[in-house]
Amino acid sequence: MQYAVKAWSNGTARAGVLQLGSSCPCPLEIETPSLLLPTRKCLPRFISPDLLPSLPSPDSRLLQFSPLHFLEGLSTQTISNLGGLHQMLCLHEYGLVAVPRDSIQCLPASEGTNKVGASFETPCGRCLIKPKEYMEMISSMRPDIWVTLADEVPTWVSAKRNSSSVDRTIRWLDECIALRPLGGDIFGSIVGGANVQQRQLCAEEVAKRNVSGYWIGGFGLGESMDERPALLKAVCDNLPEEKPRLVCGLGLPEEVLQGVAAGIDLFDTTYIYHITIGGFALTFPLDKIGVSELIPYSSDIGSDQTKINLRATVYRKDTTPVVQNCSCYTCKNHTKAYINHLLNVHEMLAQILLEIHNTHHFLGFFHLIREAIKEGKFEQFREKFIHDRREHLAASAVHV
Ligand SMILES: [Zn+2]
Repeated sequence: MQYAVKAWSNGTARAGVLQLGSSCPCPLEIETPSLLLPTRKCLPRFISPDLLPSLPSPDSRLLQFSPLHFLEGLSTQTISNLGGLHQMLCLHEYGLVAVPRDSIQCLPASEGTNKVGASFETPCGRCLIKPKEYMEMISSMRPDIWVTLADEVPTWVSAKRNSSSVDRTIRWLDECIALRPLGGDIFGSIVGGANVQQRQLCAEEVAKRNVSGYWIGGFGLGESMDERPALLKAVCDNLPEEKPRLVCGLGLPEEVLQGVAAGIDLFDTTYIYHITIGGFALTFPLDKIGVSELIPYSSDIGSDQTKINLRATVYRKDTTPVVQNCSCYTCKNHTKAYINHLLNVHEMLAQILLEIHNTHHFLGFFHLIREAIKEGKFEQFREKFIHDRREHLAASAVHV
């Protein structure tokens, strides 16, 4: 793996290029800031392998997966015999990033965590995973990037518990490094909850280790939007600039902008999955900085100005696409009325079409962020994005 920062904006926001498989004849190049697609067993929840190429490429080629999802199925030995996950799933042109967090269920791994390993909710019950077992999984699955075990805690735990989670995460990091398999790049885990000093301490310690990048966990577990910039700054200020930073738990558009402003390069979030499963479609305007006029929302009904609820009766006879001029497969071929019908009859095609559109739309948002950074206008882009959304919220409140 290679990473290089190509442009800065407003001091800390940065755009770069992440190259995976640099020794292969066709390495995968991903521009950052970028999104890791959330998956279950390496495939997006509702998009089958034959539809994957319809997503914007190469932006959609970085897949996050949890090794824990494989605990219920094939043994590590079998996966190893099959040649690893790229080979087993025929995903040769995709980058796989292993994150040991059961992100689909979003349960904090702190419960039941003890000194020898992390306890996770899995499809086959609660399992204690020790660094040695985790490294056996990694060496059999052969991902491009893997994240070390982390003891994430929510913000409401005691200072003592937060401090012990930092000590434990660093100890597991050292154990994972000692047991590292050949191949695959390590991202060292950084925790520290909502305590700035603990965040700084953990970042300083992890930065001393021989890792290729950093995974910043423990967000989205109770901290407020106002607390977050100081926590992100405490971490990013203590990490070397030349290595990529991946954050977990920041998914809302405003949260992504907060992360980018702090110097985050990669985002691991289940936001797309959660809105898709709820029957929502992303509709917030994708305006480039410099385009002054607001693009009107398709409808204020069933909308919170970010997304629309396609289960709403108002869409039953709506023959327009989810977003006018969207170039995704769903918007080019189907209408809101059809998706509303599919949702009402519990047809899974609804989630397939929604996940395609939502992924497409969110990747478009990341593309605009990168363009704004390259033009040195990230802060203006961020301010305009937040201002426009507040304007829409205020306008819809007046109409109610
Ligand atoms: Zn679309």
